[in-house]
Amino acid sequence: MKTISVLGSTGSIGRSALDVIARHPDRYSVHALTANSRVADLFEQCRTFNPVHAVLGDEAAAHEFQDLCCRHALDVEVHHGADALEAVASGDTVDIVIAAIVGAAGLLSTLAAARAGKRLLLANKEALVMSGQLLMQAAADADALIMPIDSEHNAIFQSLPATEKGICTRGIEKILLTASGGPLRNCSLEELRVVTPQQALKHPNWSMGPKISIDSATLMNKGLEVIEACQLFAVDVDDVQVVVHPESIVHSMVSYADGSVIAQMGQPDMRTPIAHALAWPERITSGVEPLDFFMVSGLHFEKPDTDRFPLLRVACEAQRQGGTAPAILNAANEVAVDAFLDGRVAFLQLSALVEKTLECSKISPANDLGTIIEADKTARDTARQLIAQAAVKTH
Ligand code: NAD
Ligand code: MG
Repeated sequence: MKTISVLGSTGSIGRSALDVIARHPDRYSVHALTANSRVADLFEQCRTFNPVHAVLGDEAAAHEFQDLCCRHALDVEVHHGADALEAVASGDTVDIVIAAIVGAAGLLSTLAAARAGKRLLLANKEALVMSGQLLMQAAADADALIMPIDSEHNAIFQSLPATEKGICTRGIEKILLTASGGPLRNCSLEELRVVTPQQALKHPNWSMGPKISIDSATLMNKGLEVIEACQLFAVDVDDVQVVVHPESIVHSMVSYADGSVIAQMGQPDMRTPIAHALAWPERITSGVEPLDFFMVSGLHFEKPDTDRFPLLRVACEAQRQGGTAPAILNAANEVAVDAFLDGRVAFLQLSALVEKTLECSKISPANDLGTIIEADKTARDTARQLIAQAAVKTH
């Protein structure tokens, strides 16, 4: 029996993870569930999964949650804040941590799980983008096994030869990172100029939280994933080729020196990578139906267009720059996406805002957490100032 902490259990990934966990009560028990503010959702999850701990983002939400538990005689230890999140990510009685908080808010708890040597199911790609080397080194030092559950990286993991310690990247020619192209793949620049948040949120194949949905529409998600692949598999930006594949059936591929290309395929359903990462090297059921090839109308592949979607290029450049550049990129993007969702900036301003923030920022070596957190904070201030001054010219 393995015990699991699900960080961000009320989100899209958190709910998919609990769906898989519920199918295997003989293998997994839930140690902790955490949410930012969705008190009612977290309460329902706690009723179903009976965790030892529940963690909320702030004190007011924790009080509200505690009242609900008292009224319904639900026995769970209630906590709030960053220290409590780190504690349930690193406690001795936890075997597996699912890092499914969105954005930089997940950095410290993800790092805590790596430092404590857990099996770390990583969805929170922003944490890895911000602190890549630090996080990978912490995991190596503590013998933590990082299992990617981002579907593309899980597919790459599955397409690489496995050893006892994880995977081996010898003989790789290229990592072929697939991208659906998002809901705006066929829009002209003119059409992109007037895109609303509602249009950008409508992903054709995947059902996801709002931040990653906007990142998918701008291709920033793919940019973050290029950086994620570089960190997870110790390759350079030039070893990763983004391939637009609108059907989202091939979740990514690895091309080898001998001409072989190995791909992982399946339905676009996050329960597959989650189940794979939970049980690896075993296989367990996930609730996902196998792919019916007679129903697949075709598989198409095309080059990404970085003229219409420049954030993919900007992200690759930030990874080439190295140091704190990816953390700055991520921070500026989080601020920009919030502003777009609030109607304060237009779709085409997102890339200009991120690019301009990088231009205005000092890039330092990212050797310690303090430097990374400072770079994140300064970049957020810069991006907010740029929005306030409306100093960002459109594309
Ligand atoms: P979501 O918005 O649906 O859920 C986010 C979760 O994080 C919620 O449980 C929320 O309560 C929690 N949270 C948010 N801010 C917090 C804070 N300040 N403190 C504590 N908790 C906080 O997001 P999602 O789509 O589930 O994505 C989660 C992560 O997984 C992201 O990093 C995303 O890039 C990655 N990811 C998601 C998918 C997907 O299909 N949704 C696929 C691949 C990777
Ligand atoms: Mg992905």
